[in-house]
Amino acid sequence: MSVLLKLENFKLRYGAVEAVRGINLEIRKGEIAALLGANGAGKSSTMNGIAGLAPVADGRVIFDGRDITDLPPEEIPISGLTLAPEGRRVFGTLTVADNLRMGAYAVSDPSEIRAAQDRVFTLFPILAERQNQFAGTLSGGQQQMLAIGRALMCNPRLLLLDEPSLGLAPLVVEQVFELISTLRDQSVTIFLVEQNVAGALEIADRAYLMASGQITRAGSAAEMRASEDMSASYLGVH
Ligand code: ATP
Repeated sequence: MSVLLKLENFKLRYGAVEAVRGINLEIRKGEIAALLGANGAGKSSTMNGIAGLAPVADGRVIFDGRDITDLPPEEIPISGLTLAPEGRRVFGTLTVADNLRMGAYAVSDPSEIRAAQDRVFTLFPILAERQNQFAGTLSGGQQQMLAIGRALMCNPRLLLLDEPSLGLAPLVVEQVFELISTLRDQSVTIFLVEQNVAGALEIADRAYLMASGQITRAGSAAEMRASEDMSASYLGVH
């Protein structure tokens, strides 16, 4: 399978804090890859750095063969990579439809925007039903769907998802994970940060484990499920 995203010696620093300490990883076209690890391991920093939202201190981000390390954040979605950030961050005082339109800021052809919106509405019928409602009136799960829908509006080939299950009821978490699998089946490659390790390993093809800014383990989802340190630390099995 060909490589869609590659991080080479990727480092991120906030002043004196070394949040990511020179990691190397590869995301393959068509897969769901998970980035797992405890609070503060550097997972969100990695996602934000790839999306151009945190300053990369060293190393390179190669997307589909192109070095995007120094691209300004507003140009990265145009290259085909979008992030649905942690905490959803929808615009509560805008309607659902306007939130989606904002996600399409990089697309100028109105018929393309309509097609993207139709695709999002097919994936998330509840967003079609509520398209004229203010986003702030949606439930947490619906806001998460809107955040993912917004990230899909410029037809990304790679979707970064930072903790999509955070704060959602178990049934809604299941729906969100099912949707992520559906997206992969529709040829969107997924790179996913999750605290819900068991859930993430059910849908992921491969996973990386991160601790203190470094990758400490990598493997297929089955290998990660079977690995003893994963079981003890994250899956509640002793
Ligand atoms: P969480 O699940 O809690 O979001 P994480 O694995 O995503 O954890 P990061 O949020 O990437 O971890 O944080 C990595 C390290 O960088 C932590 O030590 C954190 O305190 C620090 N950090 C994150 N953002 C900033 C910031 N804007 N300024 C300074 N330090 C930061």
